[in-house]
Order: sequence, then C-alpha cells, then structure tokens
Amino acid sequence: MAASASPEEKPGQGELEALRSQVVALQRVSSLGVLAGSISHELNNALTPILNYAKLGLRNPDPEFHKRAFEKILEGATRASAITTGVLGLARPRTDRREAADLTRLSEEIVLLTAKDLSKTRVKLEFHAVGRPYARVAPAQIQQVLLNLVINARQAMPQGGKITIRVAHDPTGRLAEVSVSDTGQGIAPDDLARIFEPFFTTKIGPDATGMGGTGLGLSVCREIVEAHRGRLRAESRLGQGTTFTLRLPACANPAEKDAA
Ligand code: ADP
Repeated sequence: MAASASPEEKPGQGELEALRSQVVALQRVSSLGVLAGSISHELNNALTPILNYAKLGLRNPDPEFHKRAFEKILEGATRASAITTGVLGLARPRTDRREAADLTRLSEEIVLLTAKDLSKTRVKLEFHAVGRPYARVAPAQIQQVLLNLVINARQAMPQGGKITIRVAHDPTGRLAEVSVSDTGQGIAPDDLARIFEPFFTTKIGPDATGMGGTGLGLSVCREIVEAHRGRLRAESRLGQGTTFTLRLPACANPAEKDAA
C-alpha cells in the first residue's frame, strides 16, 4: 500500500495541537528522567537527619535536646517537601493556567532539583537574583524550559565547569529576564543558526549519564516561551561557553499590588 497520505488524512488543527502538547509533555518527562537518580539521592539526604534525630530524641529525655531534634527534623522535612513539590509540579502540572509568578522562586526550585546532579559531574552552579521580577506564566512550563537549559549546559561541560543562572529585569523594567550561562564547549556559528529546529542535535552517542539527544528540547522550549509572548535567544563562543536568555513581559508582584 502507498505510504503517502491523501489530503483528507492530514491531521486537523485539533489533532496537531494534541500532538504538540504530547511532545511538550514527553520532553518534560525525559528531562526529569535524566535527574531521577540524583533526585532520589537528594531526597534520601533530607530524610536521613529526620530519621536519626527522631530516634535520638526518643532515647534522650533532655528537653533542650528535644527542641534541637525537632528543629533538625523540621529542617529536613521542609527540604524533602520542597524537593517533592518541585518534582510533582513538573511531572504532573496541575494546570497550564497562567498566574503572576515569582521567577526567582521558580528558578530557585530548579537549582534545588539539579544541584546534586551537577555536583556529581563537577559542575558548579551559581545563582544571582537582582530584584524580584514577576511574569504571568504557567509556572511548570517555564520551569520545564529552565530545566532543559540547565541539562543542556551540563551536557556541554563533560569535564566540569560552571553554570550561572541570573534573574533580573531588563534595563527598561518591562521585561523579566532569566539567563542560563555555561563555560562549556560553545556552539559553532553554523549550528547556532539551527539549534531551535526540531530534531537538530549534535549529541550522537550517550553522554556520561547515558543520555543522547533527541533534538527536541530547544524547539519545545522556544515554543513554550513564544506562547508566553516571550523570546528565547542563544549567544555562544566556541570553546568558551553559551548563554541562553529567556525574556518575558514582566508584571507586578500581586502582593505589592494588593498592598498599594
Ligand atoms: P538535544 O539536547 O536533545 O540535542 P536540544 O534541542 O535541546 O536537543 O539542543 C539542540 C542542540 O543544541 C544540541 O544537540 C547541542 O548541539 C546544542 N546545544 C544546546 N544547548 C547547548 C549548550 N548549552 N552548549 C552547547 N551546545 C548546546
């Protein structure tokens, strides 16, 4: 039977939309898969002091010690809860509804999720926030973009290096910016023109963590950002590193608006 599709068999707009959102969801699950091992490890690190201080507290009758043990338990539980909230929010976003979101907080959650994975591969992570920009976004989608940029940056530094995440307003104050810079291998000019194309990848084999590339990450990222009326740009110098900058229309912090 001929493989070519007749015009009637072409997917309709609804089907295209459904396929597009499936690609976005699969890309998100694949990013989380890269981090699964380190996230479990990180969660275990948070649970260990909870177990130990609970056991010690049961044995030690000193009220002063009990107070310290409860503080340690609370600290560990807060950290464990932040990790699971971050993973659950990304794995099963409750909604794609837009809300005025604190981009510093969204970025900090990604720092928390990726820190362990990065330190394992000798990548240092720096985080700088200037001011507290807000933007009307679907938080899980923007975090999906950031997670993807961080994983790409890590994969560009097989020998280790540094990732810097910056959150700030642009000089006009009308745009909120989040940039992810790395000190990795950089991107050749010919490739730079193509990195946002679906299926463009230079990752031919599995990297140290067993992951090759699908070439879908950046095209999904750009689609998400443009659906938010934002822009995603890349600048790179071969051998020196790459910076991806995400710009979104800024909005007011709702708490300040209510107070005004
Ligand atoms: P994948 O990571 O699956 O290859 P992407 O769409 O995320 O797909 O990226 C496309 C290509 O862009 C990568 O294969 C790589 O060549 C390049 N790239 C993306 N981010 C970086 C980076 N931080 N440093 C160097 N190259 C990068």
